Amino acid sequence: MRVGVIGGGQLARMMIAPAEELGLEIRVLAEEPGMSAALAATATGDYRDLDTVLAFARDVDVITFDHEHVPQDVLAGLVSAGIAVHPGPEALAIAQDKLVMRETMARIGAPQPDWAAVRDADELAAFLEAHGGRAVVKTARGGYDGKGVRVVNAAHEADDWFTALAEDANGGALLAEEMVDFTRELAQQVARRPSGQALAYPVVQTVQRDGVCAEVTAPAPGIGGLAEEAADLGLRIAEELGVTGMLAVELFETADGRILVNELAMRPHNSGHWTQDGAVTSQFEQHLRAVLDLPLGDPSPRAAHAVMINILGGPEGATMAERFAAALAAAPDAKVHTYGKAPRPGRKVGHVNAAGPELDAVLASARAAAAAFD
Ligand code: ADP
Repeated sequence: MRVGVIGGGQLARMMIAPAEELGLEIRVLAEEPGMSAALAATATGDYRDLDTVLAFARDVDVITFDHEHVPQDVLAGLVSAGIAVHPGPEALAIAQDKLVMRETMARIGAPQPDWAAVRDADELAAFLEAHGGRAVVKTARGGYDGKGVRVVNAAHEADDWFTALAEDANGGALLAEEMVDFTRELAQQVARRPSGQALAYPVVQTVQRDGVCAEVTAPAPGIGGLAEEAADLGLRIAEELGVTGMLAVELFETADGRILVNELAMRPHNSGHWTQDGAVTSQFEQHLRAVLDLPLGDPSPRAAHAVMINILGGPEGATMAERFAAALAAAPDAKVHTYGKAPRPGRKVGHVNAAGPELDAVLASARAAAAAFD
């Protein structure tokens, strides 16, 4: 069986090892040469160009993704050429646009922050007025790692985004959300096959720094009864939206014990990297199984606790190779994963996983290894 992955980043790269172990052939359509996933048979080309994508898809059994940016007309072209695409265009449309995502969560009754589509500064001013003078404003499309997310206290603080919208032929609106006073952020992952089988991973705690995921603890410490609620919510969203492959539901936990949907990702996700070394079936293997409609693997944790810490390209100083060796020496029980990317400041270039019976010891190992990259 052959899987074609559109996008050559680290998520595609991390599908390669499980594909080889399962005996699947994996091919990648990368944006440019030398990307993270260049370890696999790689074609290079523009994923926005239907002919390029059709040529790439010609001899694979299923097309899946490393990111959510493939345009709908290209996805539709693949489907009409008879190519299996997972997740499919209808599900992906919901992950591609935060306004569509909010409308869809409202339609299925999933808990979420108060929100509105705002087309100009007057509409944003009205939303601010109704929400204590503060809101989180987001561009509907194209945001990632906190880019396209802004806390505003006055309507004019989003003027540049409204101007850009006005210049865009497609027009549209910004998403305004109430500023949620969350106690922590969580993420719920589920896997779902086209034929319907679906399984949930344990809900995890995520910590973001400067809008970028920094640290993940699995399962979320002290989660209690919310674990089941989060798993049920993730499974329900996957089912109602017809998601195939891995789905991540980013959540806010509030002081009064509620969970609210922040965002959806329909692919392996940073909040699930811990599964490589902490779960019976990693999210990357699971994604491959799911998109090929093969029986899913066991999502159970292999240890009581697992921690993942991201490695960002850091300050000048030691080379990546020196830092890498220092990380391996600092915590021999930790697993260091690097993505073959140039370590530009702030760029995700790898992560460290640790798992074991005691949370303190697991955290200490992961932090010791990750600190070697600072
Ligand atoms: P991205 O698409 O860049 O990941 P998100 O919508 O996930 O953007 O927002 C990034 C981060 O901003 C979140 O992880 C959270 O820390 C914060 N954030 C987003 N929306 C809200 C909100 N409504 N209230 C409070 N904080 C928020």
